[in-house]
Formats: sequence, C-alpha cells, structure tokens
Amino acid sequence: MELREWQKKLKEKIKSAINNNKLVFLNSPTGSGKTLFSLLVGLETKGKVLFLVRTHNEYNPVFRDFLKINTDKNLKFSFLMGKPTACLFSEGDASTDDINCNLCSFKTSIIDLEVEKYPNEFVKELKKQGIEEGFCPYFSLFNDIGKADVIVLTYPYFFIDKFRESLGIEFEDYLIVVDEAHNVEKIGDFEERTLSSHLLDMAIKQAKNEFVKFILQRIKDELIRIASNVESYIRANEIPEISDDEIEVLKEEYEELREQMIKERKIKRIYLGSVIKFYESYKDDEELVPFIHKNKIVLKSVDISNFLQILNDDNLTFLLMSGTLPPEDYIKKIWNITRSLIYINVEREIKEKVSGDYECILATDVTSKYDSRGDVMWKKYGDYLLKVYYQAKAHVLSVFPSYEIMNKVMGFIQVPKYLEDEDSEIETLYSFVQKFNKTIIGAVGRGKLTEGVELVKDGRSLISDVVIVGIPYPPPDDYTKLVAQKISERLGRKIDEYLYKIPALMTVRQSIGRGIRGINDHVKVWLLDRRFDSLWWKKNLNCFNPKKTRL
Ligand code: SF4
Repeated sequence: MELREWQKKLKEKIKSAINNNKLVFLNSPTGSGKTLFSLLVGLETKGKVLFLVRTHNEYNPVFRDFLKINTDKNLKFSFLMGKPTACLFSEGDASTDDINCNLCSFKTSIIDLEVEKYPNEFVKELKKQGIEEGFCPYFSLFNDIGKADVIVLTYPYFFIDKFRESLGIEFEDYLIVVDEAHNVEKIGDFEERTLSSHLLDMAIKQAKNEFVKFILQRIKDELIRIASNVESYIRANEIPEISDDEIEVLKEEYEELREQMIKERKIKRIYLGSVIKFYESYKDDEELVPFIHKNKIVLKSVDISNFLQILNDDNLTFLLMSGTLPPEDYIKKIWNITRSLIYINVEREIKEKVSGDYECILATDVTSKYDSRGDVMWKKYGDYLLKVYYQAKAHVLSVFPSYEIMNKVMGFIQVPKYLEDEDSEIETLYSFVQKFNKTIIGAVGRGKLTEGVELVKDGRSLISDVVIVGIPYPPPDDYTKLVAQKISERLGRKIDEYLYKIPALMTVRQSIGRGIRGINDHVKVWLLDRRFDSLWWKKNLNCFNPKKTRL
C-alpha cells in the first residue's frame, strides 16, 4: 500500500515511541489519513488495535480503512453498539438500564459473526436476522469483540471504569487509539445526570401508580421553585428532596415497567429510570455537583482529569490523535498526565502542509467583551455577517460565544440561515443546506456543529467562510470556576490561561477545521473581535499577517 509522504516519514518514529512505552500524541489535520496510519502502526507494533471514537457514526471510516488494509482477509474486525441500538426489542430511545435482559429468552442465544458490512448497516441486518432466527445481536457483538484484531468502541466503554471492566478483554494486548482526542476531557458529560420538568412530565405520563405520580409531581413543583432559565451553570444549593422510602416506591414502579416492556417485546425509554438515576448518582457519586441550567438541575463532574487517569497506566499503550490537540503543556497539567509522552505535530515535524489551508481577515472595530455588549454591537456583527455572506462562494459557518449572542446577532439577518440549538440534530442542518446554494449557519462554540458538522460534496468542503463572532471563551460561570478551583488546588497556582484562553483557541481551531475537510480546501477565516489582534492569537492561529478590515 502506497503511504503518504508524512506517513512514510513518521511511521518508524511513532512505532519506536510506542515500543518504548511512551504515551503518543499525534496532531494532524482532518483528511490527512490518520485512521489508516494508526491501524497500520497498531498492527505492526502490538498486533491488535482498539479504536475509540465519539459516536457510532465514526465507526464507518475505521471500517473503510480496515478494508483497505485487510486485502488478504486474514484480519478480523469487530465493534460494539449498546443495547439501545442492538437489542431486538429496543425502539432506539431506551436507555441501557431500561432493558432487562434477565427476563429475555435470547440472552444466551448468540451467534458467531463476520463483519463484512459497514457497522450501522451490519447491525440493522443483524437485528432482522436475530428476529427471524432467534438470537441476540447485542450479546453476539459482545461475544465477538475479544476475538478481533481491530475493535471499535465509543469512549465510555473504555474511559468509564464499570464499562471497561465489563468488557473482559486484555487491554495490554492492544494499541489503544483515541480518535479526536481533544474530546476526551468531555468524557464526564457521559456521566452527567439531568432533572427537568420535561423528564418529570414524561415520567408522570408513563407511571401507573397514583402515589408515584404524586411524588413526581411534588419533585416537579420543587424543581420549578429552585431552577431558573439561565444559559450558564449556577451552583444549586439544594435539589428537590426525596426520601429513601419514596425512592423505593419509584424503583418498584420502574421494575414493573421494565418487566412489562420486555414481555411485550417493545422497549422504549422509561423516564422514571432517569429520575431514579439522577438521585442515585447524587447520593453515591461525590464528584458530581448540582448546577442550575436552563430550568433544569444538572449533575456535573468538576474534575475533568478523573476519567483520564487510565492514560497514566504504564501497562497500556496509547496513540491519541486529533486535528486540534490542545498544547502539550495543557495536556500535562489539565489532564494530569504524569507519564512520559511524545507530542508530534505532523505539519511542524515534516515542514509541509498535509491538508487544506486558510487565510485570516481580522476586524478591529468589534468585540464581544462584556463591557461593549449591547444592541449596537450585535447590529454591527449582523452587518459583518451579511458582508461575509454576500462575498462568500458557498456556505458561511458563524461561531458565537453563546446562544444568547447568536440569537441577538442572527435576529438582524434576513437571508437563508440555520441556527443551532441544544437539541438540534446535525441531520436537520444537512437537509436544510441542500435547499440553498449558500446559507449562514449559526453555531455555538463547543456545541454540536463546531464539533461534528461535515458539509462535503465531491470531496470538497461546502463551507467557504468561517466567521468567529467574538472570542468564544467558556462562560465564567460557577461550573468553570469550580473546575478552575480543582485544578488550581492540584497545581498549586492559578490557571486562567488554561481554562479560558486555551479552550477558546481550541474552539476557534475546531471551527476552522469544519471548513477544511481535505487537501484541496481553502477557507476564509473572519476573526471578528479586536482582541484577536494580539501576538498570542496570531501565533497560535498561525495568522501572522491577517488582512485587517473595518465596517
Ligand atoms: S434481545 Fe434480549 S438479551 Fe438481547 S439485548 Fe435485547 S433484551 Fe437483552
């Protein structure tokens, strides 16, 4: 197989780092061929690869590259999808705990698998076959992973102790590849628990027992009293109370609902289960802190290094890769990496571009700084967006520090536009943009779109302009402050740069990456904030001589 220039140049260096038990970080842009490279390196060093990705959709590119390598068909590929996706009776929105396998006759009916199709399609067909032939797709997949040379899993299976331990595989035997590794510090989000009026309403609707309904209604009334509609996270001094006896009543009802659904072979989400989980996590997990956020109470972990300590395990071999890795110093301090590591920036190492490029345009007459905020500034930002839109060759991705600013600025825009919200699915954006030659897409830093949107046609990006509307610093709310406090305690000093500037830089880089999906892409990056006119930003964004503009 013909390797790309950077792959040829760096392969031996990375293999030697792996053999010397270093923790390897590989920073290389999207579209540069990292997936195939890591599979090759893993098979040549450890002989087996465990590939970790964020979502099931990202299984497909790994399988595609596996097929390119496995021309002799002597390697085995395997993957795992959770019960909500792979169970024969799940309607998709159920959570794992809602599915009571102990009452299912298929639990021990498993078959041997040969994955020859893309994972999403494979599971669909496996479910069909499972119904016809009477076996469990989930346990068949589970049984298969230990036999494979290349396994793909989502992050929680590995980074959350209880899931990792349940897999029963010898992790020492694999090169563990962490894809899009800048995301790993968000692992705590998977353990987040939320109590909302919507959740309680749905639980009340599903409940049969009047006393259960009464308890849930009382929790809801208290929640409405405690929570308020704020976008940032405010520490909650109390949560709606519930006694141990009341929890027991909820659990009895939950068990009955689980039993009924498995008997009917139709399992959908049991909202009561999420209410119970919220209270159990609050009681059992001291790391989770309650916050008020958008009329909900959210339990969040404030020590982001907690889940990452497995990376310091010398018995395990890791390759962490991304197009936008945080700086090495940040990784060591914020992720609390104490193990010997090697950090390779591909373009710097080989002194060549391995993906597309961008030019910067810097606006010096606007800013999202707190004391300058207001309708006059939002209107000016709106005018800038229109200016960008009218000169753009394709779609414009605009990235805002918050939903509030996005809604205010986009209120001035009357051209085809799409606004992200917390519940938006990327698929709705895909169908929206198909109707227009160009649109303005409104996204929020650290939201779904800046992380996951991929608008590509015939191998070329459909985003011609990326607009950074103000610096997307994380909000200085109680959550960020508590995270800062935890890390400062560990490091023995203040760490503002790490908690505000570096995350903002990562968001800007990530947003730029949305426009550059391959070697032939070129985007205009509009830095709409005068604070970008500093050496720190220009150096870190590689924009030493940006064209300056004013309205
Ligand atoms: S098919 Fe049966 S055993 Fe398999 S995941 Fe569903 S409930 Fe569990």
